Amino acid sequence: VINNAWGPVMLPYDIHGTRTSAVYPVTNTFYVSPEQHSRILRSCMSKPKPDTPEDQLPITYRLICRKSNCMNHENMCDWPDESIHVFEVLINSTSVKLHRKRSYYDRDNYEHYEGNDSSVEVSNLIVAGVNKVGIKQCSCDGCYKKLNDHVLSIEVQLRETRDVILYWARSQLISEAVGKALVRQLTNVQTYSGDDELIVTSNLTIDLRCPYTFTRIKEPARGLNCRHLSCFELCNFVDA
Ligand SMILES: [Zn+2]
Ligand SMILES: [Zn+2]
Repeated sequence: VINNAWGPVMLPYDIHGTRTSAVYPVTNTFYVSPEQHSRILRSCMSKPKPDTPEDQLPITYRLICRKSNCMNHENMCDWPDESIHVFEVLINSTSVKLHRKRSYYDRDNYEHYEGNDSSVEVSNLIVAGVNKVGIKQCSCDGCYKKLNDHVLSIEVQLRETRDVILYWARSQLISEAVGKALVRQLTNVQTYSGDDELIVTSNLTIDLRCPYTFTRIKEPARGLNCRHLSCFELCNFVDA
């Protein structure tokens, strides 16, 4: 996710303090520049060259809803309860079909769920210029409570390909000197235990096999701020 095209907004949206069970769409707008719009991923697009700058890579738009305490879970989606009388999101007057977990009842009439709520890709509804978001919501007491605490937004996602990711990683190759300094820094683990005793780690075993496939690493890679001593095979990580 690179930024929000619209929102985040807290539900229930724009109630103006008046709670009625009347359902009216509340509309809001956001702007998409022609340049931005031309980057929307289309099936006819040729694959981006590996060295394409980040601000020219294809993008997609998605509608997502989160509980306010789950804002930092990038892909966790939580639509307002299905039992709400009316909850509908319209983008440029087209109603968005929400991807919801499915509820079903077993023989003993216990409710179960299948799947998860998930965000909806709405790229095909986005136009260059001014876009309209409409929200239809029931604001009776019960629905108000169920909508409450949900945060709705339209997010822009960068669509990097495998080749682009490999190119990014390979262009951040570290020199032997930097590598050695890193090893020295990571192996010099000194911690003070509770009773002021210094613990120094001196004997270390480092696995030269990739933790994903247990084969010998040919192209070692690591996370930028990772504190692990072992590396992993770049391709295995990208493909995982
Ligand atoms: Zn209601
Ligand atoms: Zn790590």
